[in-house]
Amino acid sequence: MKTNAYAAQNATTPLAPFSFERRKVGKHDVQIEILYCGVCHSDLHTVRSEWSRATYPCVPGHEIVGRVVKVGKDVNRFKEGDKVGVGCMVDSCLACANCKENLEQFCEKGAIFTYNSPDKYTGGITYGGYSESIVVDKEFVLKIPKNLDLATTAPLLCAGITTYSPLRYHNVTKGQKVGVVGLGGLGHIGVKLAKALGAYVVVFTTSPSKVEDALRLGADEVVNSKNEDEMQKHLNSFHFILDTVSAKHDINAYLLLLRRDGNLTQVGIPSEPLLLSVSSLIFGRRSMSGSLIGGIKETQEMLDFCGKHNVTADIELIPIQNINEAYNRLLKSDVKYRFVIDMASLKQTV
Ligand code: NAP
Ligand code: ZN
Repeated sequence: MKTNAYAAQNATTPLAPFSFERRKVGKHDVQIEILYCGVCHSDLHTVRSEWSRATYPCVPGHEIVGRVVKVGKDVNRFKEGDKVGVGCMVDSCLACANCKENLEQFCEKGAIFTYNSPDKYTGGITYGGYSESIVVDKEFVLKIPKNLDLATTAPLLCAGITTYSPLRYHNVTKGQKVGVVGLGGLGHIGVKLAKALGAYVVVFTTSPSKVEDALRLGADEVVNSKNEDEMQKHLNSFHFILDTVSAKHDINAYLLLLRRDGNLTQVGIPSEPLLLSVSSLIFGRRSMSGSLIGGIKETQEMLDFCGKHNVTADIELIPIQNINEAYNRLLKSDVKYRFVIDMASLKQTV
C-alpha cells in the first residue's frame, strides 16, 4: 500500500514529503488510519543522528492515535472503526524471559521500535507515525479509553508510559515528595501522573516562563533550577526524582536533593555523557537508575489509569508542514507542552 509521509533524508536537511509501501494486512495485523501523532524529542535526536547514525530515509513518530480500517482474520480484539494507539514498539519475539514478563522493550532478541528499526516484513527499516497509515501486529496495538480526546491522548503513547512506568516501579504513592526535572513533553505528563498517584510534586525548570503553567498542571512547588538558593532549600528531602532533561546538565545537583535511600531515575537521553560524582550517591545510600518506555501491558494500564483520572497532554496541534519549525522550537525548550501533528494536514501536501 502506497503511504504518504514526511521523512528526513539525512541528518541535516529538513523533513519533507516522502512515500513508501506499507505491508499488506497479515492475519495478525491491524491497519490503522493515523489521525494524530505526537512529536517526541526522541524523533529529533534520531533524525539528526544525535545518538547514533540513523538509517535514511527516516520517518519518525511513535505517539500514534488512529482509527482501525482493517484487521487480519486472527484478530478479534479490534474491529473496523475502533480508536487505537501505537507507541514506541511494533514487534518483539514475545517468547524470551523479558517478553514473558511483559517487558517487551527489553526483548532479548531486540524490540522492534516503531521507526528506524529492522523491519522483518520488508527487510528494510520501520517507518513511524508521521504518515497516513500503519500496519501493526495486534499484540502492539492499544485501546484508547472512550472518554479521552484523541489528539491530547497521542502523547501518552510515549511520554505517558515513559513517566508512568518509573513512577510505578519506584512505588510513588500518597505523601511522598517527588521531583520532576524539565517541563517539556515528558515532564508535564510526569507532573500530572505523579499528582494523580497522590505525591507532593516539585517541578524543576530552567524556564521562568513555565512557573505558572507548572502550578496549573498540578505542581505543589516550582523551583528555578538555575537559582542555587532555591535548590538548597530542598536538600535531602525527595523520595524520588524523575529527570526528563534532553540535554547535558548537572545531575549531582539533583542527587543531593534526595533523602536517604531516595532514587533519581533518568529518562531523558542527552547525547553526551553526564558526569556523576559518586559521593552524591554514597552519602545517603542514594541510587540512580534509568528507565525505557514500558511494556505493552503496562502501557494499556497507563492508558486506563489516564482514562480514570482524566489525564491527557497539553498540546499545540500543528500541521505536518510545520514540523521543522516545531523541531527548532523543541531545541529552545519552547513547547507547551507537546506538539501533536494533525495528520489530516498531510493531504494538503500530496
Ligand atoms: P522536550 O519536550 O524537549 O522537554 C525537555 C525539557 O528539558 C525542556 O522542555 C526543558 O525543560 C529541559 N531542558 C532542555 N534543555 C535543557 C538544558 N540544556 N538544561 C536543562 N534543562 C533542559 O523533550 P521530551 O520529548 O520530553 O523528551 C525528553 C528526553 O527524554 C529526550 O532526551 C528524549 O529522547 C527522552 N525520552 C526518553 C524515553 C525513555 O524511554 N527513556 C522516552 C521518550 C523520550 P525546562 O524548560 O522546564 O527547563
Ligand atoms: Zn518518545
